[in-house]
Amino acid sequence: MQLTVREPSDQLLRKECTPIPKRDLRKTSVQEEIEAMIDYVYGTNNKGKKRKSNQSMTVGLSANQVGLSKRISIVDMAIGKRGYSDIQVLINPEIIWASTSMVEHGEGCVNLPSIWGYVMRSKRIKVKALDRSGNELLLTLVGWPAILLQHEIDHLNGKLFIDKLIDPKKAHLVEKNDYRQYKTEKKNWTKYIDVSKYIKPE
Ligand SMILES: [Zn+2]
Repeated sequence: MQLTVREPSDQLLRKECTPIPKRDLRKTSVQEEIEAMIDYVYGTNNKGKKRKSNQSMTVGLSANQVGLSKRISIVDMAIGKRGYSDIQVLINPEIIWASTSMVEHGEGCVNLPSIWGYVMRSKRIKVKALDRSGNELLLTLVGWPAILLQHEIDHLNGKLFIDKLIDPKKAHLVEKNDYRQYKTEKKNWTKYIDVSKYIKPE
């Protein structure tokens, strides 16, 4: 099964995804979609010995990013670690609690390959989800995994990280050859791109 990463203006990115009934997890078609998404994340995860330091790491993917309007997110819980991955499948993930204390972090997105920016997120969250077999999960997350899950659950609700930028006219533009430099100079970056045209109207 071939998945195609959607363009930033694709309306599927702006549509709320549909929950998957637990019984549907028994369907081969749904398991094949999950498998294809896992393959995509492993294929672009860029970790371990073969890691290319001038390329970003894919640490999360939600189904509508690749054309499936279903509540599936694949997340690498070892986000922030370069040497190994901990890739997990979350079905119908839902934030059931979020701390009022916030943190600011740089974020990027598979659908917006050269666009980066700082976003405020809750520092801690609790998430309820199903695994791919239908078992119920309750996750308490802090730091990077908490930020990642907020980014992915936003996708499932039709939102992108650029909606939350302080100034959408000044998203960071990071072209392919600049990525290594960006990692050390994020805070002082002066190459901007106006992403207003991709922002969802309220
Ligand atoms: Zn994203």
